[in-house]
Amino acid sequence: MPEETKPQRFRCPGCAADMEFDPESGLMKCRFCGQTAAVPAVTTGVAPPHSLDEFLAKTDDTHLRPLTDQALEVSCDGCGSRVAFDPPEVAGTCPFCGADIVAEPKAADPMISPDGLLPAKVPKNNAQTQVREWLQTRWFAPNALKRMARQEAISGVYLPFWDYAADTRSQYRGERGDHYWDTEVYTDTDEQGRPVQRTRQVQRTRWTQVSGEVSRRFDNVLVVATKSVSEKRLDALEPWDLESLRAYEPAYLSGFKAQRYQVELPAGFDKAKSVMQSAIEADAARDIGGDEQRVESVDTAYSNTTFRHLLLPVWIGAYKFQAKVYQVVVNARTGEVQGERPYSAWKIAALVGAILFVLAILLLLRSQN
Ligand SMILES: [Zn+2]
Ligand SMILES: [Zn+2]
Repeated sequence: MPEETKPQRFRCPGCAADMEFDPESGLMKCRFCGQTAAVPAVTTGVAPPHSLDEFLAKTDDTHLRPLTDQALEVSCDGCGSRVAFDPPEVAGTCPFCGADIVAEPKAADPMISPDGLLPAKVPKNNAQTQVREWLQTRWFAPNALKRMARQEAISGVYLPFWDYAADTRSQYRGERGDHYWDTEVYTDTDEQGRPVQRTRQVQRTRWTQVSGEVSRRFDNVLVVATKSVSEKRLDALEPWDLESLRAYEPAYLSGFKAQRYQVELPAGFDKAKSVMQSAIEADAARDIGGDEQRVESVDTAYSNTTFRHLLLPVWIGAYKFQAKVYQVVVNARTGEVQGERPYSAWKIAALVGAILFVLAILLLLRSQN
C-alpha cells in the first residue's frame, strides 16, 4: 500500500507499520516493534444522545457516515451479515457462520454513526483460554470444536446495539381485587354418619373497576441490533459496564471488525417499548393496590425519547459440524463465554460401550462365584 494512502493516525512512530488497538493495555500497539501510543481522539467525550423524533423526521441521508474514512465492508454469502473493517485487516472467514468470505470488499456504506463503544479489554489469547476452559467442562464435545479452540479461529467483533431512553406517562385500566371473608354453610356427617349442617370461613375476592396514571423515566434500554447472534446468547453475556462507555473513535476498530446494524432504528424502538411495557404494567399493578390486580390496558405516551448507537466488543468463532453452524461468543469486557455445541455421537456411543463392557465383566464374575 502506498504510504500516503495509509491512515496517518494509526502509523507506528517507531517503524511506520500499522498500529492496532491492544485490549490488554487499552493503547495503540505496534505488532512489529511493540511501541505503544494513546488512542488518537477525534472527538471529545461521549456525545449527548440524539432525539429519536428528530432523527426519524430526517428525509435525506446527510447525517449518515461510513464507519471510518477507510472502512471496507463485505457481506457474507453464508449468513447475510455485513461486517466492516479497516485495512490492513482482511475479510477472511465470516465470524458468525465460519464461511469463507469470497465477495470483494467495497467501501463501507454510510450509516448512523456509532456514538460510543466499550473498548475490548480481554486480549485474544485470554479469550482463547476462556473458550478452552469452557470446552473442558463440556462433555462429548466433538473434536472439530476442540480444534477450533486450539486454532486462532476467533475474531474480535464490535456488535451493534441501540440504547434508548424515554420519559413515559401511561393511562391504565384494570381491576382491583380485595379479599374478604365469607361464612359458608356446608353439609358434613357426624360421628354416627348422619348428615349435619356446619359453617366455615372462606376467602373471596371483590373486584372493582379502576383506572389511573403512572409515569416512569427509562434509561439505558439496550436493544440488540444484530441478527447474527441469538438474542438469548447476547442477553446471557450481560452485564455490559455501560458506565465505562467511550466516545467512538475509529482507532478502536483497528485489528477488529464491526458489524453493521441489522435492526433499524424504529424497529429497535418497538422492541424497547415492549421491554418498557412490562415495567409499566408492574407500576400500574402497584398503583392499583389491593390484594390482587388485573391490568387490562395500558396506553403510554413517550416523550424526550433519545437513542445512542453503541458498539460492544465480543470475541466470536463459528464452526460447522454435520452441516449445522455453532457459535461460541466471549464478552470481550468480562471474558464470559456463551456458546452451543453438538454432542459427539461417537463419544457417547464409546462411553455407553465401555459401561456395558464393565457390566458384562461384573455379571461374568458374579456367575462364576
Ligand atoms: Zn512499530
Ligand atoms: Zn456468515
